[in-house]
Amino acid sequence: MKKEDCIFCRIANGEIPSATIYEDADFRVILDLGPASKGHALILPKEHFDNIYELDEDTAAKAFVLAKNMAGKMTEALGCDGFNIVQNNGTVAGQTVFHFHMHLIPRYEGDADFLHWEPGRLTDEVKEEILEKMKTV
Ligand code: 5GP
Ligand code: ZN
Repeated sequence: MKKEDCIFCRIANGEIPSATIYEDADFRVILDLGPASKGHALILPKEHFDNIYELDEDTAAKAFVLAKNMAGKMTEALGCDGFNIVQNNGTVAGQTVFHFHMHLIPRYEGDADFLHWEPGRLTDEVKEEILEKMKTV
């Protein structure tokens, strides 16, 4: 199902032109308009899902296989030195377009460390709390 007024539905289904580097029956892979690095691309399912919570398992499985294959192809074509897969869900997590997508981000020696975070510390108290909570679901 497509969603009216969703820009990624319109791009994924070819209603709005995009720089497409791969397409099949289920997905379109396009270059990001605001790239974090040279070659930054987005995997868009042609069907609309707001986020990972809504995504069906068949599309989830296919999306990750596609990410794996795109990482190999893009690394060969672009000569990058590493690769990040990023996938944001919810405003607090940095999602700005509410149509599920995966970021394919080539990394190059010496590029900006734009995905870095300061590691915290896993205390025994928090560890036990999480282990208990995860048993309830
Ligand atoms: P999010 O922040 O939701 O994880 O990622 C949205 C991404 O989509 C951003 O990296 C942004 O640059 C990209 N983007 C937003 N609108 C468009 C568009 O119309 N075309 C393309 N190619 N990329 C877009
Ligand atoms: Zn959509």
